[in-house]
Amino acid sequence: MTTTAAPATTPFRFFDVHVVRTRRLGPSMVRITFGGERLAELTSGGRDQRFKIFLPQPHQDRPVFEDTGDGWYTAWRAQDPAERAVMRSYTIREQRHEPREFDVDFALHGADSPAHAAAAGPAGRWAAHARPGDPLTVLAPAVEDNGGVDFRPPTGTDWILLTGDETALPAIGGILSLLSPGTHAKVYVEIAHEDDRQSLPTFADADITWLVRDEATVASRQPVLDALRAAELPEGTPYAWIAGEAGTVKAVRRHLVRERGIDRRAVKFTGYWRRGASEEDLLAELTAGTAAADRD
Ligand SMILES: Cc1cc2nc3c(=O)[nH]c(=O)nc-3n(C[C@H](O)[C@H](O)[C@H](O)COP(=O)(O)OP(=O)(O)OC[C@H]3O[C@@H](n4cnc5c(N)ncnc54)[C@H](O)[C@@H]3O)c2cc1C
Repeated sequence: MTTTAAPATTPFRFFDVHVVRTRRLGPSMVRITFGGERLAELTSGGRDQRFKIFLPQPHQDRPVFEDTGDGWYTAWRAQDPAERAVMRSYTIREQRHEPREFDVDFALHGADSPAHAAAAGPAGRWAAHARPGDPLTVLAPAVEDNGGVDFRPPTGTDWILLTGDETALPAIGGILSLLSPGTHAKVYVEIAHEDDRQSLPTFADADITWLVRDEATVASRQPVLDALRAAELPEGTPYAWIAGEAGTVKAVRRHLVRERGIDRRAVKFTGYWRRGASEEDLLAELTAGTAAADRD
């Protein structure tokens, strides 16, 4: 998974930002708009632009983070995990220049419900309670072509397939907003609640299917996979972009490559989170894997 790789510092830079406002998008998501002094230097590449946020621990009112330049990742890892800023991956949903601000849409995954908040992660909890003025550090792009954008359909693509859950919805919205007029796109989005549907403005000829998951069967059913299996897909050369829960992403990719015969190079897939694992768990796995590879 690409979820947890330490991002390159260049062409990314650290920015101190603060919450400007929050807006509920539906039962499961909140849009947080950020502002900051140096935002003239922040340049999103659009589409599925990834970036990192550094959050305060629950007992802190601002993240403990020092920008040590190229060595930041080693320095951050050497800090006490109970005190250092919590690092998470998110998508820049939209950047605006007048005024200078950008939006991030957070899936709350239970963080706003007293019954589930204990199982939710620090980012979900932070987003559920964010207020104007709350400070955050982000590692964000400073140039448009920055390596943090995965959606890159090759020349010769006839149609686009996008699939994901709420965590992928900001990227899907960003991608749709930049597709050329007339591009044929099929989109499958898994959501927790009917009211989590969003309006996704696009010039493309987009056929969007919303799939409301049943929380009772969440561990055993994969609505996106079921819908794809039953779908009649267009003729021609596709480019598929798949994100969301890692198990579903893997199953969807396998279906597209093995059962639909889509060229694996035309399938861009990214696990955005994994059921039962926090981003720290994924980072620890990645680090252990890298260490083992270095020893071999
Ligand atoms: C490139 C990239 C871009 C991303 N963009 C976005 C984005 O724009 N918006 C967004 O909301 N998320 C996005 N994510 C996903 C987000 O980083 C994860 O959901 C992250 O785990 C949330 O951190 P946390 O502290 O809330 O939970 P963690 O501490 O990481 O996890 C705590 C527990 O919650 C579970 N969990 C995590 N996420 C979910 C979920 N969505 N539903 C149910 N259970 C969950 C974990 O399995 C774990 O058991 C992105 C991920 C990547 C890699």
